[in-house]
Amino acid sequence: MLFGPPGAGKGTQADRFAARHGVPKISTGDMLRKAVHDGTELGRLVKDRLERGALVSDDLMIRLVSERLGEPDTTHGFVLDGFPRTIEQAASLETIVGGRGPLVVVALVVHADEVVRRLSTRGRHDDEEWVIRERLQVYSDSTEPVLEYFRRRKAITVLDGNRPPDEVTDAIEAAVAHAVGRASNS
Ligand code: ADP
Repeated sequence: MLFGPPGAGKGTQADRFAARHGVPKISTGDMLRKAVHDGTELGRLVKDRLERGALVSDDLMIRLVSERLGEPDTTHGFVLDGFPRTIEQAASLETIVGGRGPLVVVALVVHADEVVRRLSTRGRHDDEEWVIRERLQVYSDSTEPVLEYFRRRKAITVLDGNRPPDEVTDAIEAAVAHAVGRASNS
């Protein structure tokens, strides 16, 4: 699971990890944007919140992620990007993946000004300045506490996401190898 503020590089790193390990990338942002684009019922439900940079409800997100993680392509692993974003989602993730092998939590920490710089050059539909500001506010109000939640469980690796992408990739690989090794020795 990759954790961090908008613009931390989670999407890029999740793509690389998925390709390297042949596991699906499960990005809740991508799933929601696709639902909006396809005009599904889910898409109609979440469109407004997505455009405002507000969080989709925990109920909906937990259902979406548990359904996705119930699909057979996730049996040998997956990389999760964008979930959990609240304490309630974090608690549910432990239930969802319970008994499935180690859950490795990697947080990317990035300076606030670097985040703004990256997002304002990305050009996604919800990357207008006022929406970026809202998403960063939501991150510090609702999502940052999730970092503490995993810290208290000592189940997290915090990495410096300000570094070049290749260095971050190497650090993620090392963190996952370490955590998986530890889990199989215990
Ligand atoms: P970013 O790249 O800014 O981190 P994402 O692509 O992960 O953004 O998510 C885009 C939007 O999708 C969020 O602003 C939010 O509206 C919604 N969203 C994604 N994941 C979640 C989640 N786990 N809980 C609630 N809302 C979510």
